[in-house]
Amino acid sequence: MIELAEASKRYGDVEALRRLSLVFEAARTSVLLGSSGSGKSTVLQLIVGLLRPDTGEVRVAGERLTAQNVQRLRLQIGYVVQTGGLFPHLTARANVELMGRYLAYEDARRRARVAELAELARMSPELLDRYPCELSGGQRQRVSLMRALLLDPPILLLDEPLGALDPITRAELQFELREIFRSLEKTVVLVTHDVREAAFFGDRLILLRGGEVVQDGSFGQLVSEPADPFVSRFIQAQSGPLDQFGLDS
Ligand code: ADP
Ligand code: MG
Repeated sequence: MIELAEASKRYGDVEALRRLSLVFEAARTSVLLGSSGSGKSTVLQLIVGLLRPDTGEVRVAGERLTAQNVQRLRLQIGYVVQTGGLFPHLTARANVELMGRYLAYEDARRRARVAELAELARMSPELLDRYPCELSGGQRQRVSLMRALLLDPPILLLDEPLGALDPITRAELQFELREIFRSLEKTVVLVTHDVREAAFFGDRLILLRGGEVVQDGSFGQLVSEPADPFVSRFIQAQSGPLDQFGLDS
């Protein structure tokens, strides 16, 4: 469904991605994991066509991304970012409906789709008439997810979607999101720097460091067959101090 072939991306002196090759199969949830600066967001921006690789190529739904087809292929992708990326001057509903207006959906069709998505994302319809600043962080992410799903795209990219939320809201949304991914059978690529979140969501974890893949496998494989000492260090660094005393669940 998505393929990066030897894709490189450099910002000045920084090599954000080094000849990265990855294939994301349809209807699976894959997690891009890594510390800040490892290149996770750059991968998503290449897939969505916001950036173009310096070398190599990106394929989406079987087509190589080019300046000519990027607009069309973009419609196959829902994209959610950490802070929601909602337009502050539009109500939640107007944010969700944006692409429907762009594609000139009829009013009835647009309304029906928004109602359907509100149910899926467990968002009270009356909250949709508020502006983003009048919503909680969790509600904003629900709206952002609804917006990303409006056109029912086969691909969903999420860049630290829960990163800005408090722990309780985050845990609640983790469960709901996983249910949504399972029920919709979309090709999901989720970015996080949190090992537990990665293990919770992904059948497949891709650990990045310095724009390269350190290991690509299940959480169990990363734990029991680390490809590099960095893998164990990365996982251990995120076991809280309480883990040592057996006090953490
Ligand atoms: P991550 O999402 O894993 O934190 P990014 O993909 O955002 O990592 O960034 C990878 C590297 O590229 C980092 O070193 C970052 O500082 C650099 N980088 C990202 N975007 C830019 C930019 N627009 N200009 C300059 N450097 C950038
Ligand atoms: Mg990032």
